[in-house]
Amino acid sequence: MKKYIITLVASLLMVQTTFAEGYQLLKPSGVLDVARGVLMESQQVLILDDKIVAIGSATQMNAEIPENYKVIDLEGLTLMPGLIDAHSHVLLHPYNETSWNDQVMKESRAERVARGVIHLKNTLDAGFTSLRDLGSEGAGYADVGLKQALEKGVIPGPSIIVAGRAIVATGSYGPKGFDLSHDIILGAEPADGNDLIRVVRDQIGKGADIIKFYADYRWGPNGEAKPTFSLQEMKTMVEVANSSGRQVVAHSATAEGMRRATLAGVQSIEHGDGGTIETFQLMKEHGVIFCPTVTITESIAEYGGWLKGQGPEPKSVATKKDAMTSALKSGVTICNGSDVGPYTHGDNLRELLIMHEYGLSIEKTLQAATIVGAELMNKKGELGEVKVGYIADLIAVKGNPLENLEVLSDIRMVMQGGEVYK
Ligand SMILES: [Zn+2]
Repeated sequence: MKKYIITLVASLLMVQTTFAEGYQLLKPSGVLDVARGVLMESQQVLILDDKIVAIGSATQMNAEIPENYKVIDLEGLTLMPGLIDAHSHVLLHPYNETSWNDQVMKESRAERVARGVIHLKNTLDAGFTSLRDLGSEGAGYADVGLKQALEKGVIPGPSIIVAGRAIVATGSYGPKGFDLSHDIILGAEPADGNDLIRVVRDQIGKGADIIKFYADYRWGPNGEAKPTFSLQEMKTMVEVANSSGRQVVAHSATAEGMRRATLAGVQSIEHGDGGTIETFQLMKEHGVIFCPTVTITESIAEYGGWLKGQGPEPKSVATKKDAMTSALKSGVTICNGSDVGPYTHGDNLRELLIMHEYGLSIEKTLQAATIVGAELMNKKGELGEVKVGYIADLIAVKGNPLENLEVLSDIRMVMQGGEVYK
């Protein structure tokens, strides 16, 4: 918000007067309390600058409101926290347009950034006000640059935290299958053993907000997912990252990779296809959040010719559903992270719809995309709810999301840090 500062200097005395004109009163028909799973009617929300400062009925508000404020009429709409996708790749675009190999090896950095700019705008238009971006996939630290452009207001988009290049065990990651006399650009940075200390620190120095490693990858004898880093290597990465105040996130699709990552102390595990009930129980015990990325599994199956609702379900989809069932039984905390990028940016809502279809209640699905997401953005208690003292990242939709998540496909207003974007 703009503050007009008039500075008067008289002899040795300096007097500063600040006129704050940052008050905005939002008048929706209902406010969604995602923590309790309740739609509160006849509530108004007062914003000062980038924060929510009061919530209450019109009568309560009359007592709170200062003289000069702006009214935002949201008659007929539900006000709720902006959505959070905790697993995105803004520098990737759908694999049915261009394969991952070709994006990594053939697209220029400029093209990838240009696409990223559009992706970010489409994401904010869809009501997603925060992203945790988990790996630039061959685009170096372009994610750090995009984040800086967002923070300076150069381009529109959600608030993001970024993983930079991400870390893989030597020999495990692609692109693969080329004559060995060529040096192929990899989709992430290889490192092993004690060298992981240097690489984690180097990534932090170059702007990574979070360290991502691949606990397993499809490098088994028959191309199946198998663990990569040893437990000790994972512990090393977590120790170095945590010591700098940063969290670590693990890609893992095998029970053993998930077990090691959990014991090593990661904040969240992504994918989890091979997770058993024991794996998810262990994660719950250690407070590790599960990010199921259900949409990417369905998208890849669709690219392979599967039509959802028709024909036999592909094995990958059945496996993911089994993992979700085990996760739900275990009571592990589930976040909303869709792995968007390999499927279209702006279609992030699909993850919520599919998680709900696979058995997550509407209340928990909404919490996954708000309160749990805020924790993964390292903004627990500051973001993800319509609550006094919280950051004013808000959206308005027509209808009640607690009755039907599909209403989230029609975003009528987006407010970001107290500023109306849409
Ligand atoms: Zn991913």
